[in-house]
This record gives sequence, C-alpha cells and structure tokens, in this order.
Amino acid sequence: MKVYKFGGASLQTAASIRNLVSILQKYPADVVVVSAMNKMTNAFEELVDSYFHHRPDMQEKFNIIKDYHRTIARELFTDHSQATGDLEKLFSTIEERMQKVPFVNYDKTYDQLVPYGEKLSSTILYHHLKQEGFNCRWLDATELIHTDANFREARLEDKKTRESLDKTLQQDGLKLTQGFIGGCKEGYMTTLGREGSDYTAALIAAFTGAEDVTIWKDVPGLLNADPRYFEQTEILSHISYHEAVELAFYGAKVIHPKTIKPLQNYHIPMYVRSFLEPEKPGSLIDSSTEWDDNITSYIVKRNQVLLTLQTMDFSFMAEDHLHHLYGIFNKLGIKLNLMQNSAITLSVCFDKEDEKLESLLRAVEKTHHFKYNEGLDLITLRHYSTEAIQRVTRNRKVLLDQRSRRTAQLVVY
Ligand code: ASP
Ligand code: MG
Repeated sequence: MKVYKFGGASLQTAASIRNLVSILQKYPADVVVVSAMNKMTNAFEELVDSYFHHRPDMQEKFNIIKDYHRTIARELFTDHSQATGDLEKLFSTIEERMQKVPFVNYDKTYDQLVPYGEKLSSTILYHHLKQEGFNCRWLDATELIHTDANFREARLEDKKTRESLDKTLQQDGLKLTQGFIGGCKEGYMTTLGREGSDYTAALIAAFTGAEDVTIWKDVPGLLNADPRYFEQTEILSHISYHEAVELAFYGAKVIHPKTIKPLQNYHIPMYVRSFLEPEKPGSLIDSSTEWDDNITSYIVKRNQVLLTLQTMDFSFMAEDHLHHLYGIFNKLGIKLNLMQNSAITLSVCFDKEDEKLESLLRAVEKTHHFKYNEGLDLITLRHYSTEAIQRVTRNRKVLLDQRSRRTAQLVVY
C-alpha cells in the first residue's frame, strides 16, 4: 500500500487539482491524505475568531471561504453537479454551527469549525477524481482517526484508530481522507496541531504497514536550508529518521515534528517529492544513516530572546537551582531552544513572546540579576564545518556559540 499526502500548496487552484490528479494517474496510490486548500486553515481561524467574539465581520469571513471554494468548483464541475451540491451542504452545516452559541472553551469551538477546511478540499478532490474515472472513496477522518478531547493538540487513541483503519482501508479503490483532523469519543471533532496532515499520513502508513508514504510539496525535496534565507540550497536526497527528527526539532520547516516517530517505529520509508516536478526522485527518509554527514544543514529561528540569569547571592547554578528555574519555564510554557550555564549564571534562548517574557522576569527578579537581548537569530548547523560557521556569522555579532560533535548553535544579531 502506498500513502500520499498533498498539502495546501498543491490544492490552490483548479489547475493544481488537475495536476494532482495527473500525478495520481502516473504514480498510483492507495490512500491519499489532503490538507485544506492553500491558506484556508488560516481563513477558518479568522472565522472562528469572529464567531467566538461575536464580531460583525463573521459573514464576511465566511464569504471569503465560500467564494474561494465555489470559484474552484465552478471551473471543475457543472452547476447542478453532485460536487456543487455536496459543497453547499458543507457550507450549510458550517452556517448552522455558527448560529449556535460558541463553546466557552475556545479550542473546542475552534475544532468544531476548522476541520471543514479539510472536508471541503477533500470533497472537491473526490468529485474531480470520480469525474476522471477513479474508483475512489471519501473517508471521514473524524470517524477514522480517534483522539482524546485535548482540542487543537489532540492525542491519538492508538487502539481504536488502528481498528478503524484496519476495517476501512481494506476496501478496494483509492481511499481519500483528510489530514490534521480526528474525532473524540465525546462526539466532537478534534485537530492534531497546525500542519498536522503529515502526521496523519504517517499514522495511516504505520498502522496499516504501508510500503511507503510520500509527502508532495512545492519544493524538490528536503532542502539543507530555507531558500527564503539562503541563496544556495541543496537537496538532502537520503537521510535517516534520526536526522529528520533532529532537523524538525531545531526548527526546519520540512515536515511536522510528530511525523517521524510512527514511521521509525514501523520502519516505513518516507519520500518528499515535488508536485511541480513529479518525475524527480526527491528525498528519502529511512533508517540508513550512511548519508547523514554529507551535507551541512542550516536552520534559522528568528525573533529570539537570549536571557542570562545570575544568582544574586553568588550561590551556584547547580542542579537544585536549575530544577527550580526549569520549573518556572515549564509553568510559563517557555520552550527553550538553547541553554548554557556557568558557575553562577544560566543563559537561555527562546522564542520572543512579550507576555511570557514579562511573567518570567517577574518570577526571577527578586533572586537574580538579569540581562537580555531581543531580535536575535538562532542559527543551527547540523554536520557543520568551520567554513560553514564563518559563512553564517560574517558581519554578525555572535552572542553565544555552542557545539557538539554534529551540531553547532549560534545566537547572533
Ligand atoms: N490545514 C492544516 C494547516 O494548515 C493542516 C496541514 O496543512 O497540514 O495547519
Ligand atoms: Mg499545510
């Protein structure tokens, strides 16, 4: 069995849907997982915000969503087609939801609307595939992927999900379903965290013992750097699960960080290929570590804070003290991207969020001297060389430099 995932960028226009179908004609798959079209999840987030806060622009926000899908549907289908009917039905369901009072819990409210992005995109693709002669089934992921009720970051119920996948995916033909969304036993829709479609595809592949899974993207494969920040990029044509999970951890926007674990656990290879150049091989992620050292990868995290805390009474920054400080970071939800300590100081680097920084300073100011810089970049190099470090730090001031055998991290401005 082959599992494919198509993200929002491959579902932008009628032409991109036709392109996607031509890929499926040339390179057949058994299961296709899709995201919402283009930036529709963001549009749904705005809609939720208006609905939750009873803002007058709610209908306007909804119209943007309807117009987007209707425009594409008009290009692909005739007026009175079943496709158009099904889309309008989904719009009515959304409308009904919005006539009810929102839940007090924002995240629960969010999860009752945002999944329609995926339901709409998969409905359009489904009808187009049928029209093109595919034997295709549309499967509702909210009945297939079972989760707990931890809305917006729902955790998987392994056993139930495995059972429902076992049952449904036996059927013949192409199975089409939605990424990112699931359902809980309380009867509500849930989501797995933004950009979670890769994770859905990985879960389906792992639980069904698929041959492999392919993520179709608008880049030619996994790149060693973000082309927005680096002029020259190279394709990582073959890397290990370990390397992939490290890259994702340090902030490479390649694949959703949760994706690798199920693939590694069940030994499922993952390909990353371009839907613009589908004939190219792209990248492969599997258990082989042979090629991991070949290329230096660069990952940049912007808008970082570097905070240095120093004990006021000259007590050591020892385990008990660190334990206390880490407890504070944890409580405030501050995720540390880098840490380093000396006899009486601790330096930590994290994403800048004003409120969290203020709360943190309030919590430590009585017992610590502190200094911090904002607006910094954290550059991580995997499989670095001295020249590579020189290149990224040219004309920049390095505030902190930390190296292990494979990874160098630099906080710069
Ligand atoms: N549509 C969702 C999002 O934009 C899930 C995904 O694209 O993977 O976050
Ligand atoms: Mg996406």
